[in-house]
Amino acid sequence: MAASSKVPSLRLPPLPTVGELIKLYKLRAEKQLSQNFLLDLRLTDKLVRQAGSLRGAHVCEVGPGPGGLTRSILNAGAADLLVVEKDSRFIPGLKLLSEAAPDRMRIVHGDILTYRMDRGFPAQISKPWEEDPPNLHIIGNLPFNVSTPLIIKWLENIANRTGPFTFGRTQLTLTFQKEVVERLTASTGCRQRSRISIMAQYLCTVRKCFVIPGQAFVPKPEVDVGVVHFTPLVQPQIQQPFKLVEKVVRNIFQFRRKHCHKGIERLFPEVCRAELTQEMMQQADVDPVLRPTELTIPHVRALTEAYAQLCAHEPDLLGYEFREELRLKHLSRNKRMPVDSTKSS
Ligand code: SAM
Repeated sequence: MAASSKVPSLRLPPLPTVGELIKLYKLRAEKQLSQNFLLDLRLTDKLVRQAGSLRGAHVCEVGPGPGGLTRSILNAGAADLLVVEKDSRFIPGLKLLSEAAPDRMRIVHGDILTYRMDRGFPAQISKPWEEDPPNLHIIGNLPFNVSTPLIIKWLENIANRTGPFTFGRTQLTLTFQKEVVERLTASTGCRQRSRISIMAQYLCTVRKCFVIPGQAFVPKPEVDVGVVHFTPLVQPQIQQPFKLVEKVVRNIFQFRRKHCHKGIERLFPEVCRAELTQEMMQQADVDPVLRPTELTIPHVRALTEAYAQLCAHEPDLLGYEFREELRLKHLSRNKRMPVDSTKSS
């Protein structure tokens, strides 16, 4: 399993093409699992190049499926490739690939959302956070309904240096629906600026690599797909707990077209809403009539710091959720409502 810089023969021997394997194992893409395969090896090679040099690297590929991207990763010289695939139909084809690359590929039949990647690689590959990233990469072309929750989970892992980031600033190269790529990379003032732009950019350098047209996939998805590369920052741009930042940003973007103070108000219970909102905006020195999309990360940093200070004085604030207050109000209103005797049950 140890990655060595002297890998003798890195190219795979001749194998059936991915298309032939799909036919051989009758690997029909499951629409309900949003399976869209990349069979063009020039495109999978291009995707893999976005990760940088993989010579002698440890790589985790998420959702290898029929193994097109997997071949490109092996051909790029990865010394230790761990693939995590949920759908058992792909395992025999992946075993064939693994036999063609002896001692270089490990297969986990499992779910990437629960897989403990911190246990998947040797501790010796770790690099201190402040140094260059470790020689470990996460690469994947996942279904969109998995890649978005997964990147949010991994952003939290980055903030806490857990999961794949126990090894240091592990880099990620992943595909997303083009719309999500626009949001992940949107800068201040852009129409697409949203919650996920702030969450990703305060923790990582986020690079939009290239767009893969829908017709490159089999079957063709409804939308185009983009490739994004993430490198965790040595120093996150906001130094507050992830959950606190997430709460402030979620509230700010609740009313994305209104002035930002509208969303910030919802951080506080009705009784003290006006007073604490004003205090928080003043403390942060942020203009309350800026729109959420106009806020820079330093603005958000100042707002989270002001909110953290208010919570330090009044710890109950941290647990306060506007939607929960609303739900309880509805419940008690409904309880008080007289039963309409004219309605039959
Ligand atoms: N990487 C292949 C390619 O580019 O052709 C397949 C891409 S297909 C969009 C997504 C793959 O991820 C499928 O093989 C699917 O079974 C797998 N997958 C979906 N959800 C997963 C999960 N939670 N954990 C691991 N694999 C998953």
